Amino acid sequence: MTHHTGSSLRARLLISSIGIAVVVSAIFIVVAYRLTVDLGESTELESLEIQTEMLFSQLQHLQPDPEAFVTSANYLDSGTSELAPIYLVINIQGEIYKQQSLENYPYKDLLISADFRPNTSGIITVSEKRFIWAQRSTLDEEISLTLIRPTESLDLALQYIVRRLSVTAFLTFWIALWSALVLSAIIVRRIEKNNEELAFMATHDPLTKLPNRLYLIDKVNHYTSSTKGLLMKSTQDVKGALLMIDLDRFKEVNDTLGHAMGDELLIALANRFREKLTDSCLLVRTGGDEFIIWCKDMDADKALLVANQIIQTCKVPVKVNNTFLESSASIGIACFPQHGKDVDTLVKCADVAMYQAKRQHQGVKLYDAASDNHSILRVKLRGELSNALKHKQFVLYYQPKIELTTGKVVGVEALARWEHPQEGLIPPNDFIDLIEQSGMVNEFSRNVLLIAIKQISEWMDQGLSLTIAVNISPYNLLDPELTPFIATLLKTYQVPAEKLEIELTETASMIDIQTTRLAFSKLRKSGVKLSVDDFGTGMSSLAYLKELDVDFIKIDRSFIINMSNDERDKTIVKSTINLINKLGRYSVAEGIETSHQARQLEAMGCDFGQGFYFAKPMPETKLREYVNKQNHQR
Ligand code: C2E
Ligand code: MG
Ligand code: MG
Repeated sequence: MTHHTGSSLRARLLISSIGIAVVVSAIFIVVAYRLTVDLGESTELESLEIQTEMLFSQLQHLQPDPEAFVTSANYLDSGTSELAPIYLVINIQGEIYKQQSLENYPYKDLLISADFRPNTSGIITVSEKRFIWAQRSTLDEEISLTLIRPTESLDLALQYIVRRLSVTAFLTFWIALWSALVLSAIIVRRIEKNNEELAFMATHDPLTKLPNRLYLIDKVNHYTSSTKGLLMKSTQDVKGALLMIDLDRFKEVNDTLGHAMGDELLIALANRFREKLTDSCLLVRTGGDEFIIWCKDMDADKALLVANQIIQTCKVPVKVNNTFLESSASIGIACFPQHGKDVDTLVKCADVAMYQAKRQHQGVKLYDAASDNHSILRVKLRGELSNALKHKQFVLYYQPKIELTTGKVVGVEALARWEHPQEGLIPPNDFIDLIEQSGMVNEFSRNVLLIAIKQISEWMDQGLSLTIAVNISPYNLLDPELTPFIATLLKTYQVPAEKLEIELTETASMIDIQTTRLAFSKLRKSGVKLSVDDFGTGMSSLAYLKELDVDFIKIDRSFIINMSNDERDKTIVKSTINLINKLGRYSVAEGIETSHQARQLEAMGCDFGQGFYFAKPMPETKLREYVNKQNHQR
């Protein structure tokens, strides 16, 4: 495209320069012509005047013998033929003596009858021919002499001009042409450079200098359309692989260490990726921590190899600002043409595979159409998150928390649901991780907190004294405004802080125990209750218990399920309850599904229980009914 504009611009520049050269030459010719003619004629006139003067003084001398004069004039005529007048008029006392050197001159009568003023000279035009004339006469005008001659300057000038100007014009023309060529080349180069810079900016990422999504689309489209013909004949020769790379927990690096460090890490990783790739592979950065590699002529096996190399290279720590950062990545692979015949489909499939890899902590995943239905839905949901937040499609269901000794409902756990206009009610396990990855998790959790606190206040107004436990994501702990936000809400809705419980899942969170402890202590100071969720599933259970100042510890459902038929699980549950009680915290058993489990747990000294045996999570309207029934039964 750039090339085309360049050459057409060059042509236009050339044409206009030549045009200017032609116009300038023309003006030059006209001006020079006029000047030469004018100059030539005035010199001719001057010499004619001198000639007339000379002849006239002779005439005066010979007077009154005109015959002698005419002879002398004839002599003059023949001697200096070039300057010879074509006509000579001598008027002595009214008698005209004429001497004509060119007898058959066609306009002689016209010339003679012209009105020549005495003692002057001038130029007259007769039948488009220019003549110069000069006249001398005595004071009494008794004797007069008139010399007339056609101007020669015109012819001479023309000859002169044609000669000189043709050379000059030729030179001017070549200079103009040459400078036009040079100028146009310079201008075109500069424009092309500008265009190139613009094109580079439009198709490259300013941070890593890698090509961007636009560039990728262009390249892949080019490849897929150029191989269309081949593809018809056989599918074996045509292949390609698209690898979607997403760094794991890059957001945490940005949030905890700052964007500058995050940027450095990205640049370093981009350079490493580039080094690992051959020339037939294209590496692009498509967004935040997302890269795509497109390799033509590559099959799935080779792509898996490349992907594993990329994962390995991520693991080598990167030194940024004297800190060593270890990264990990999830990669999804889609192959051309099996998984998609155009760039959009390929990217979508690779995206689906990448998210599968991420969720299953598998590192690399090749796209698999069979398991895709679910994944396609996830990609769709991911795109709809912010709209769902805006339109309040997230609602809370409540699961009662029962005091095991009395069977009374003491509180509820708020569990989020997505009321999706097409997909129906979506459980949190299908969207919480999407929200965590999307960067909207603070907004989401604040929204949940708002609904819950409002709800407590409403129940209080209705004489219902229930606590609500809200689940938050570990990412929320990085939000310094979380505690002030909760405090403000509690104050606004006049809810005592101890009515709110915050649950944090004890999983292998990237966020270190220090950050968690700090955030927890701030929350606890504000008076809200804290609880460790899914206890027993994380890696640092005992460390957590010792380090964190919490009120409740919820034993994970997986231990409760197996309690009845697995003695070991029963022992674990029993000793965990003991430990929790000894540390002065309340124990909560999750996922109680049978009365047997409930009785067992009560006997073990477990304080509270939740589970389908008591009630499933339910909307607020059902909950009031349930609480009334349950609390009056006992
Ligand atoms: P969780 O906090 O451990 O919540 C308990 C989950 O176990 C709930 O699933 C609940 O429906 C289920 N459950 C309760 N009793 C039983 C039982 O007897 N048997 C079985 N099989 N399941 C039982 P749910 O509602 O699907 O929530 C799943 C997880 O999603 C929650 O686990 C929690 O970690 C997360 N979550 C829910 N709401 C939110 C939220 O608002 N924010 C955040 N960050 N996470 C949330
Ligand atoms: Mg929970
Ligand atoms: Mg739980």
